[in-house]
Amino acid sequence: MNEFEIKKQMCEIGQRIYQREMVAANDGNFSVKLDENTFLCTPTGVSKGFMTPDMICKVDQEGNLKQPNGQWKPSSEIKMHMRIYKQRPDVNSVVHAHPQFATAYAIAGIPLTEKIMPEAVIFLGEVPIAKYGLPSTMEIPDAVEPFLECYDAVLLENHGALSWGEDLMSAYFKMESLEFYASLAYKAKALGGAKELPSAEVARLYELRRQFAVPGRHPADCKSATSSCNTESPLAQASISETAIEEIIKRVIEQMK
Ligand SMILES: [Zn+2]
Repeated sequence: MNEFEIKKQMCEIGQRIYQREMVAANDGNFSVKLDENTFLCTPTGVSKGFMTPDMICKVDQEGNLKQPNGQWKPSSEIKMHMRIYKQRPDVNSVVHAHPQFATAYAIAGIPLTEKIMPEAVIFLGEVPIAKYGLPSTMEIPDAVEPFLECYDAVLLENHGALSWGEDLMSAYFKMESLEFYASLAYKAKALGGAKELPSAEVARLYELRRQFAVPGRHPADCKSATSSCNTESPLAQASISETAIEEIIKRVIEQMK
């Protein structure tokens, strides 16, 4: 895909993000890596649903404009994108949006950890929350960095969501999947709570992901992940044994009746 085609694709993704109500007004931003020191990024102060290719800005690895672009300036959140490209050479695109359900979880301070459907388990595993940072400062990149090794998407506390991938479509689809996962988790709660997949089924889904060699990072494949996805982590072992203890207590109580 040449540079102009990528710019056109960025405008198409902008329309999708806007029409799917994943952003309001001029919110959100995304970028694509062209080479080690050249990146395309969405401009600030314009609705992502109404962009044309000429508005897309070209920046260097510090996020500075490589060439003047009329009235259009790069997003003030470009620092957060650059941190991801720096830490993850496999990533070629970053998407930031404020999807309604995912952002509601980010505002409530609830990470997405329930194993409720195969696609979310395979493609995301879990979505942790990066602690709140003041937009446009280094606080957000610093808060996101600890999750870059093991995840391809995070919630931003009291703010929104961030996803990344090997190309723009992949980064965008992770945002879509994340929002769908959050919406289902929320709606299942309204119906009395999600019935989670048993841990043996979750393990089979992780195995499927390995067999399919799905690109990107996943907490189940990551030794340092502090999540319940990683069956080797002490936290996961703790949560398994807690479940076992709960089961024993339940049986004992039943026998006492
Ligand atoms: Zn934002």
